[in-house]
Amino acid sequence: MQRLGKNIGGYHGETIEIRSVLREIATTAPACGWTSEVFHTQNELDWIALHRPSESEANRKRIHISAGIHGDEPAGPLAVLRLIQENRWPGNAEVSLLPCLNPRGFLLNQRANPEGIDLNRDYRQPQSAEARRHIAWLERQPPFDLYLCLHEDWESHGFYLYETNPDQRRSLAEKMIAAVAPVCPVDGSATIEDRPAQGGIIRPQISPQERPDWPEAFYHIAHTSPQGYTLEAPSDFPLPVRVHALVAAVHAAVNALTAV
Ligand SMILES: [Zn+2]
Repeated sequence: MQRLGKNIGGYHGETIEIRSVLREIATTAPACGWTSEVFHTQNELDWIALHRPSESEANRKRIHISAGIHGDEPAGPLAVLRLIQENRWPGNAEVSLLPCLNPRGFLLNQRANPEGIDLNRDYRQPQSAEARRHIAWLERQPPFDLYLCLHEDWESHGFYLYETNPDQRRSLAEKMIAAVAPVCPVDGSATIEDRPAQGGIIRPQISPQERPDWPEAFYHIAHTSPQGYTLEAPSDFPLPVRVHALVAAVHAAVNALTAV
């Protein structure tokens, strides 16, 4: 599979009509066992958090999955819709699913929100209503065992991911890469985004207290779950391939985490 070569200097690929995607998510989710909570409303758009309880408390794992924090990364919200439709969750998984953290950015097909704030740099001392309301919602949740942030990167040569796992829990990274490889190219570069990488996996040395502009993942590391992954689908490949890659990675991570 070759890169499309059309994303020069930014993302110029497929776009989605976010209102209709969110409408489809809202109408599909209840029949698949999800409850829904609106935690923010702005410009007649609702920010929703979906919740699916575990079937039993034995070895229960709590997982936070978020998408759509960058408005020019359509595969994330579409992957959420696909995950809901496929409805394949282990019985001991309790899942919170936030389909789109920046719907107003999607209306403009831009990374930032309409005020120009990159929400994924706004989780330390949040200036945006979007990050503030997400954090307020997170503060009402019990701790998570895993966070997954669904992203895309228009510059990459294939799928890759960032792992944070300071407590050295069982890594889920290789399982995700193995699940993605049959459906989407993996970026095998030795350096990705100026960080050393191996087989599509970046294990960054991070010190949140030294960085002022926290991405969402840093909030999770500090407050909700130290182990987690930022998944980056390569947006210079066709949209269905990227959606498939994110869905495959999420299933692999959830299945590996919840395996007894
Ligand atoms: Zn992103």
